[in-house]
Amino acid sequence: MTDISAPVYYDDDADVSTIETETVAVLGYGSQGHAHALNLNDSGIDVIVGLREDSDSWAEAEDAGLRVETPDVAAAAADRVVMLVPDTIQPAVYEAIKDGLEAGDTLQFAHGFNIHYGQIEPDEDVDVTMVAPKSPGHLVRRTYERGEGTPGLMAVYQDATGNAEAEALAYAKALGCTRAGVIGTTFQEEVETDLFGEQAVLCGGVTEMVKAGFETLVDAGYAPEMAYFECLNELKLIVDLMYEGGNMEMWNSVSDTAEYGGLTRGEEVINREGMEEILEDVQNGEFAREWINENQANRPSYKQYRAAEQSHQVEQVGGELRKLFAWDDEEEASEEVPAD
Ligand code: NAD
Ligand code: MG
Ligand code: MG
Ligand code: MG
Ligand code: MG
Repeated sequence: MTDISAPVYYDDDADVSTIETETVAVLGYGSQGHAHALNLNDSGIDVIVGLREDSDSWAEAEDAGLRVETPDVAAAAADRVVMLVPDTIQPAVYEAIKDGLEAGDTLQFAHGFNIHYGQIEPDEDVDVTMVAPKSPGHLVRRTYERGEGTPGLMAVYQDATGNAEAEALAYAKALGCTRAGVIGTTFQEEVETDLFGEQAVLCGGVTEMVKAGFETLVDAGYAPEMAYFECLNELKLIVDLMYEGGNMEMWNSVSDTAEYGGLTRGEEVINREGMEEILEDVQNGEFAREWINENQANRPSYKQYRAAEQSHQVEQVGGELRKLFAWDDEEEASEEVPAD
C-alpha cells in the first residue's frame, strides 16, 4: 500500500447514473471545455455548450454533434453549469448566467480562484464544486478516447443538496478521470498550491532560473548558442526523467559528476525566503488583489513584462537554433501515431 494522505477515488467509487438525468452546460469550448463537453457527451450525458454568438468555436462544437447556445440560455436549461471560460472572464460570465442557477443546481469549476477570492459569490441554495483534470484538455480528450484517463482533483465548496460530492465524482467518472485517480481536496488548497507552484517553481521559477543561467554564461563571454543548449534546451531531458521516475530517476541517469555537482551546488541558487513570501502573498490574497486590479486596468504591467520576456536574448537565439531542430517535431508527431 502506498501511503497517501489525501483521499483518492477510482471508477468503483463513482456512479455516472447519479447525474444521468442531468443536463450539463459546459461554458467555453477551449482547452478544457471541448474535452469536458465531448467526454460527457460520449458518456451519455445531455450536454449543451455555452458560447458567445460571435465565437469561432460555435461551428466547431456543432460540427462535433453538440448543441450550442449562448451561456445564459445554456445555464437556464441546465442542472449543472461548468465554468470553463478563462478565469479572468468568469465573474462577468457568472453575472450573465446566475439567473439560470435554480435551487439544487450545481455551479462547477476546474480552478477555484474566483470562488476562493470572492469574485463569484453563488447563492446558498446551489452546490458549488470542482472537477479539475491535472492535464491540458487535449490529453483529457485523447486519453478518454483510448479508454484511459488523466488524474484529476475534486472539491466541494458548498453542499446545498447533500449530493454535491457524489455528483462531482460521477462527473469525474464521465470525464474519464476516475480511471486514473481523482484526489479529494478543497478550493483553498487547490488555489493556493496551484498559484504557488506556477509562480515559485513551474512558470516563474523555471524561466527565471533559465534566464539567470543563460545571462551568467553570456556575460562571462561564452557563446549564447552554448548557453541556450546548456540552460534551456537540455531542461526537457531532465524534466522528462523527473516526470517518469522522480528526482532519483534523473540523478541515476546523469553522470556521477553531474549528480555530485548538482547535489552540492543546487541549493545555492534557491531563495527559500523568497518562496515563503510568494506563498504568503497567495495566502493573504495580496497576489489575487494585484492581479484583479491589473485586469481592471487593462493589464499595463502584464504587457510590459511580456514585451521584456519576448525581447530577451534567449528568445532570439532559441528562435534561430530551434529551426535547426525542425526534425524533432516530425519525429515526435510520428511517434504519436499508434503502431497498430
Ligand atoms: P481556454 O482559454 O482554453 O478556453 C476558454 C474558452 O472560453 C474559449 O472557448 C473561449 O472562446 C471561451 N470564452 C471566452 N470568453 C467567453 C465568454 N464571454 N462567453 C463564453 N465563452 C467565452 O481556457 P481553459 O484553459 O480551458 O481554462 C478553463 C478553466 O479550466 C479555467 O478555470 C482554468 O483555470 C481551468 N483549467 C485549465 C487547465 C488547462 O490545462 N488549460 C487545466 C485545469 C484547469
Ligand atoms: Mg438551471
Ligand atoms: Mg442537482
Ligand atoms: Mg494555474
Ligand atoms: Mg552538460
